[in-house]
Order: sequence, then structure tokens, then C-alpha cells
Amino acid sequence: MVYVGIDLGGTNIVAGVVDKDGKILGKAETPTMAERPYAEVLKDMGDVVVKAVENAGFTMDDVASVGVGAPGVADPETGDIVFANNLRWYNVPVCSTLKAQLNKPVYINNDANVAGLAEAMFGACKGAKSSITITLGTGLGGGIILNGKIWSGTHGVGAELGHIVIEKDGLQCNCGNHGCWERYSSATALIRWGRMAAVEFPSCLINAMVDGDINNITAKTVIDAAKAKDFVAIDVFNKFISYLADGIVTLINSIDPEVIAIGGGVSKAGEFLLEPLRKLVAEKVMFKDLPYARIELAEMGNDAGIVGAAMLGVIA
Ligand SMILES: [Zn+2]
Repeated sequence: MVYVGIDLGGTNIVAGVVDKDGKILGKAETPTMAERPYAEVLKDMGDVVVKAVENAGFTMDDVASVGVGAPGVADPETGDIVFANNLRWYNVPVCSTLKAQLNKPVYINNDANVAGLAEAMFGACKGAKSSITITLGTGLGGGIILNGKIWSGTHGVGAELGHIVIEKDGLQCNCGNHGCWERYSSATALIRWGRMAAVEFPSCLINAMVDGDINNITAKTVIDAAKAKDFVAIDVFNKFISYLADGIVTLINSIDPEVIAIGGGVSKAGEFLLEPLRKLVAEKVMFKDLPYARIELAEMGNDAGIVGAAMLGVIA
């Protein structure tokens, strides 16, 4: 039997057929066009599942279950997306609708949680009884996996690690609060600081790399300039790492997992990010004489969402 995972994004719907070892056997995708009525998007999600199964050389009879990684708050019990900002969805009955179309068991969870599940089963956290995967992208997503299960709290609203307040009265966040971790530890934060630095220090390498057009500054621009030993870029990157370390130490002090994996676009900086981060965490962690979480790079890349969503049916 095979399992299908759907990565439901604001731009694209991607479905993948996955075997029990986490290997993707075939894929299909279609644009989300999120401004449509949700019933049309759900219909396309079902169709893309059928297409992915075809592309992988199977029939629907071979499919054990379908799982959905949702870009927002999903209720695994009701199978609804409670709220998804990108899609402007409130209380959308995803699982019951797909189940009626596909006649298969359908599971749902938050996309950062399913990415964490994929890392725990097949990636950087494989073999660990407890792990946390944080995904540094537009925001900061968190997935907590305990004893092979997703821990999203008693009411389903836990593991929102990006909204740990890390700076009292800090920057306004989309959630309505101020000073949330994702405002300081995300690609968005790195880009914001990179642009500010380029304006304040026009002779810096960040500015030179984009020919003075600060709108073209990406997280990679800042990282590459820091790698090239530009002092301004190094300052920006160090500030980023400092906030990242503060949040990670908070996770270690509160959850004490075996492994913390770091994924998302910014994690492509690799050892250039990990080495100073590990050093800073070692300085800040409370129990310095005791072992604490290994900090690793996530390994599943862009496929984490599909593989993790597919595995919802395996761990159910
Ligand atoms: Zn927030």
C-alpha cells in the first residue's frame, strides 16, 4: 500500500505518493488559485491526488490513506482547517469533503507539524524519541514530535513556536501580538535587517551585490555577503543568530528535546549558520554540565511537507 500527502500552499497544491519508508514515488501539482470558492480548491486537491497516483503508476486501490499539510490551524479531530490566513479560510471541512470524493481515510495537520514528523521519521531527527523542527522561511514554523506523535497541544494551538514572545514590546506580528520570535528569526527578518543595513551603510557588500536596489536583497544576499567577510553583513547575521539562539535555548529549557532540526530557506547557509549557533546556545543554555539537544540541519528539504502529510495515515 502507498500513502498520499498533500502540501496545500497559498500558490500551489502538490500531492505526492509516498511508500512506508518515506520515499516519494510520484507527484502532481496544480495552482491553488486561493481566491476561488473553497469547494473548487478542495475538488482540485482530490483531482491532484488521483493524478499523482496515476503518475506514480498505481491505482486508487493501492492507496491506504491521504494526509493534508495545512498552511494554518487545522483540527485533526474534526478534519477542518480552522483558520488559514493565506487562503482566507475559516472552518473549512477539508477531510470530510476529500473523503467523500476519494473514498479513503483523510487526515490533516498543520504544515510545520507534518514537516517535523517527516524529519522525525526519516530525516535529521530519525531515531530520536523527542524532537523539534523549526522551519525558517517567511515566518518561523515549529513541529514538536514526542514518541512518534505530533504534539500540538491540548486544544490544537500549541507548537506555534514562531509566536513565542522574544522581545518585550517588540515588532508587531501578523498574529496581533508584539515581539514574536518569527519577527526576528525568519528569512523575512534577515531581509529586513539587510535592507536597513544597506541604507545605513551604502558602501557595504550587501548593497553592492544588488547594485543599490535594496528590493533585490534576499536572505541569501546577506548570508553570501557575511561569508565574504563584509563587516556590515556579519553584524546582521550575528544579530539573526543571536535571536535564533535565544529562542532555541527557550525550547531547550522548556521541552528539552533530544534533537532540534533547523529547516527552511535560511538553513541552506549550512555550517556557516550551525557552527556559531551551536556555540551561542552552549553559552546560553542553563544546565551547562548536562547533555542537551543536538542541533542539526533538517534533511528532508521541500519534500518534508508531502512526506509528513502522507505519514499522518501511518501514525494514526
Ligand atoms: Zn505572532
